Amino acid sequence: MKSIEQLTRANIRSLKPYSSARDEYSGLAASVFLDANENPYNKPNNRYPDPLQQTLKKEIAALKSVRPGQIFLGNGSDEAIDLLFRAFCQPQEENVVAIEPTYGMYKVCAGINDVEYRPVLLDEQYQFSADALLEHADAQSKLLFLCSPNNPTGNDLRREEIIRVLERFEGLVVLDEAYNDFSDAPSFLLELDRYPRLIVLQTFSKAWGCAAIRLGMAFASEEIIAVLNKIKYPYNVNRLTQEYARQMLHRRGDVERWVKQLKAEREEVMQRFARLKCTVHVYPSDANFFLVHLTDAVGIYNYLVGAGIIVRNRHHVALCGNCLRVTIGTRPENDRLIEALQNW
Ligand code: PMP
Repeated sequence: MKSIEQLTRANIRSLKPYSSARDEYSGLAASVFLDANENPYNKPNNRYPDPLQQTLKKEIAALKSVRPGQIFLGNGSDEAIDLLFRAFCQPQEENVVAIEPTYGMYKVCAGINDVEYRPVLLDEQYQFSADALLEHADAQSKLLFLCSPNNPTGNDLRREEIIRVLERFEGLVVLDEAYNDFSDAPSFLLELDRYPRLIVLQTFSKAWGCAAIRLGMAFASEEIIAVLNKIKYPYNVNRLTQEYARQMLHRRGDVERWVKQLKAEREEVMQRFARLKCTVHVYPSDANFFLVHLTDAVGIYNYLVGAGIIVRNRHHVALCGNCLRVTIGTRPENDRLIEALQNW
């Protein structure tokens, strides 16, 4: 097996990173800061934020039972996804493997970074076989993307198959757990020490109700996190986001209540969908959305738009013909959706 250092692109390995004013001085004792060309007025937003978000990371580490050095924070998990390509995949030479269908940004980031993307179709239950997936990997495969619960299918991937991939894949396994809070399946976070090439992605955008602040988390070995820190923009997470996230960490009761409510509402909405004349099949969900196969997804999508209700049309996505993806909203929002569909 290659080491993390060997998996890292040669130019990134030898890169001397930018050193910001706040990197070079981070002590708390000083009270006169004339090092970063900031404006002394308009406190506190006149100052650059902590480039490594150390206070916030300490608090997240305690919550997630990991070490602060195992956390990368970015402008959404999308930043971490892009940085993984830039750190580990040599453009035009190396490739990544991913389940299909899944979250669209893995493929877009591969395209932006000029890295071959190898999608491998899921089966009819939207599950994958580790062996079939790994057949598409070769010595140039640096990243392998799994998403559980998967978007847009909504289901958890089978744990045994994920473990088999972790045991056999020679590159880095990226497991996107953006929707794990809505699932009964345990997170793989606690497996980080056992699988040194595992990267777990989570986000403040879903269960935490904070899509607007743009805060994504990547959890991995200290060695992998150090590579991401080396190449990120110096002040990639702004002060307002760091502050607000810290406030949210004190509102865990609210988050737990939202998740519980959304899971209960998910079951209710899915049952109501199953009774609609236009429904062919409602797929099981472990997320805050579900996929539904309808008699005429495109017609129904356009009809709903006309009624001021926007869902996600997945008709053109592999294995999702005539499917819409429906996010669970508040009870009145869900009622409006169902009522509109009863009149379709
Ligand atoms: N992963 C998955 C599976 C997603 O569905 C999304 C957003 N839809 C993201 C990551 C991106 O999350 P963020 O807002 O943290 O960039």
